Amino acid sequence: MKVSVDREVCYGSAECAYRAPEVFDFVEGYGVVRPGREDSGDDPLVREIVERCPSQAVLLGE
Ligand code: SF4
Repeated sequence: MKVSVDREVCYGSAECAYRAPEVFDFVEGYGVVRPGREDSGDDPLVREIVERCPSQAVLLGE
């Protein structure tokens, strides 16, 4: 499953990059999925971050 960050919604808490730095980075004040890690949506840690993102900006999709 794919994971992405909606930059329009992210408010830059950096929690995703802090909790899973191998999947997420923090760039110019926004969380981003690291290039090549877009298929990490089935990782339990990524699922937890989807739940915990304070702005619900981390999205799962096919
Ligand atoms: S946890 Fe959510 S609000 Fe915080 S940087 Fe990541 S995507 Fe943005």
